[in-house]
Amino acid sequence: VDEARLQELRLAVRAFVEERRRAGDFIPRCDAWQNGLSREFSRALGARGWIGMTLPARYGGRDGSALERLVVAEELLAAGAPVFAHWIAERQIAPSILRHGSEDQRRRFLPAIARGELVFALGMSEPGSGSDLASVRTRARPSDRGWVLSGQKIWSSGAHEADFIAVLCRTSESETRHGGLSQLLVDLRSEGVDVRRIPTMTGDDHFCEVFFDDVLVPEDCLLGLEGSGWPQVTHELAFERGGPERFLSPFPLVEAFAARLDAGSDPHAATAIGGIVAECVALRALATRIAQAIDSGNDMSVDAALEKDAGTEFEQRLLDVLRAVGGAATSDPEVERLLGEAILASPSATLRGGTTQILRGIVGRALTGR
Ligand SMILES: Cc1cc2nc3c(=O)[nH]c(=O)nc-3n(C[C@H](O)[C@H](O)[C@H](O)COP(=O)(O)OP(=O)(O)OC[C@H]3O[C@@H](n4cnc5c(N)ncnc54)[C@H](O)[C@@H]3O)c2cc1C
Repeated sequence: VDEARLQELRLAVRAFVEERRRAGDFIPRCDAWQNGLSREFSRALGARGWIGMTLPARYGGRDGSALERLVVAEELLAAGAPVFAHWIAERQIAPSILRHGSEDQRRRFLPAIARGELVFALGMSEPGSGSDLASVRTRARPSDRGWVLSGQKIWSSGAHEADFIAVLCRTSESETRHGGLSQLLVDLRSEGVDVRRIPTMTGDDHFCEVFFDDVLVPEDCLLGLEGSGWPQVTHELAFERGGPERFLSPFPLVEAFAARLDAGSDPHAATAIGGIVAECVALRALATRIAQAIDSGNDMSVDAALEKDAGTEFEQRLLDVLRAVGGAATSDPEVERLLGEAILASPSATLRGGTTQILRGIVGRALTGR
């Protein structure tokens, strides 16, 4: 690892983001990787080569490392920049297409993802199939023109803005619950697709239900082998869980809060902020280890489950810490805005991407060797 190069990259991204913020191109938000969608911002990052860095150059990437990607992700998240347009596509769909996709799929999707031009949504959860994802009922049957997809997905973040959705569906009968599942890359403009938004108490409306009514999906949009959807999806989920989103989602709030705090005259406040920073450092060490494992080709799914579990608990707990410190900082309008948003969004942290109980099951099974 060339630390100097990483630092150079970090400072370049930081300067770019700061310039865009000063220009009024975005207002920092907690959770901006989920609620801040700007195709223009993502394209600007893509033009600088900061999306899909780990992809091979022949597919529009930079032959870069997961550590370099982590540095870029950290700077974007810490600034609360609007990165949702490329986030899902880059974080988990691109590695999956690279690993499981056909050569045609790699050439079709990966360069567009690296340019920040392709917005992807995730079609895993269904009414009644969340934690128990293997029970999905959305089904695709083969036809002479491709796959015919019918069913419903729910909680698909950003599907109303997305170009494609990666759908986990049943494509064949199987003796095991995890068999017979496949992934289809579905163009959301296809006939028979109906996307409906679900408002939430945060005021964001990234949540969507997606209905598929005999949607014709071309044969070449099957990702990987028929029947191998389950291992593919669990591989993707590790990328979703193992990143710095968890501990950096509230960073814009922590930074605004700390900036308005007179820590010198309030030892309790200084201790509280110190505690938050210490936890951040520990979570960051784990995220770094996960990035190193990706670079070495090692399985990081258990560490990723740990990162998501510990990170989301931290995310929720720190709001109580800041409110307990209180003081003048919380009555500052900017802090009040960020704190209000973060409080309303916080219950979702330990649900999305796998609930705390499910993650602990993964870690527990690994510890007991089952
Ligand atoms: C902000 C946000 C964004 C999301 N984005 C997407 C998206 O883009 N695409 C998508 O497909 N999904 C998305 N989801 C859905 C998310 O993946 C599910 O909410 C999650 O998997 C939990 O499923 P569920 O809501 O059906 O809860 P359930 O599975 O019904 O769980 C309810 C409770 O029961 C517990 N429980 C369930 N099974 C067990 C068990 N075996 N052992 C112990 N406890 C158990 C759970 O831990 C939980 O506390 C999103 C969710 C949120 C909150």
